[in-house]
Amino acid sequence: MNNNVCLLCPNSCKINKQLIKGACGTANDIAIAKFYLHKFEEPIISGINGSGTVFFCGCSLKCVFCQNYELSRNLRGKIISVQELAEIFKQLENMGAHNINLVNPTHYSDKIIDALKIYRPKIPIIYNTHGYENVEILEKMNDYIDVYLPDMKYFSPAISKRYTGKEDYFEKASKAVEFMINSKPIVFGQDRLIKSGVVVRHLVLPQCTSDSKKVLDWFAPFKEKAFINVMSQYTPFGDIEKFPELKRKITKREYGTVIDYLLSLNIKNAYYQEFESASEKYIPQWDF
Ligand code: SF4
Repeated sequence: MNNNVCLLCPNSCKINKQLIKGACGTANDIAIAKFYLHKFEEPIISGINGSGTVFFCGCSLKCVFCQNYELSRNLRGKIISVQELAEIFKQLENMGAHNINLVNPTHYSDKIIDALKIYRPKIPIIYNTHGYENVEILEKMNDYIDVYLPDMKYFSPAISKRYTGKEDYFEKASKAVEFMINSKPIVFGQDRLIKSGVVVRHLVLPQCTSDSKKVLDWFAPFKEKAFINVMSQYTPFGDIEKFPELKRKITKREYGTVIDYLLSLNIKNAYYQEFESASEKYIPQWDF
């Protein structure tokens, strides 16, 4: 970042972030909505004790249906210093967290590095992102990160433009995730939890099974090197008034179509869910 352009994400806002907010809705302060032991990530992440999760406010992608709308758009949360963030890492580690899980960290990545320089936990650090990333920034983060948990949300530029305003989502996210996969080989500990590696997440959306299949086609060449989680929990939420197709959950048939395709590609490093998991009960209660 120089004084007039922030390059922490592909939005490349031409602003002085010391003074004004960028497209992510944040300026120079760190804001978080919650930190706790999260027990409902993938089993290789949450384990028994839970994942030491920090939810950051603001977002550089802003999908219209965001389940975390209160913090991604409305910036509900509290401002903390870099020192306080480092202390949160230590606190979560002392609470027995299996890892530190940074949720939506992209627009704070420079400050997260500063916090990790103050206190580097002995447990794995997870970078949990929407996937819209600059590889140059990931290269700077990479020494501080053990596990990447990126979304691969959209293949089609038309769909990503409709739901985020960004036509280049797949172009940027695919390069970012390929970098992640090539830099973090899968390693498990004796506790059967992931210590290094990549778990790609894909949320199936209403009327988007063709797009989901294209995402799986893209992932297939990496199927021995990373995991994929195909998720069914889309719940109508957020700023979807102008998007009638998003006002329903996905059908069992839509999800089944995508899972059948996953199986036809012989992708074995995969998670998929009980279809009934689509529910607002999976949206956390924000603390701040
Ligand atoms: S991190 Fe925020 S300010 Fe920086 S380029 Fe991205 S959207 Fe703009």
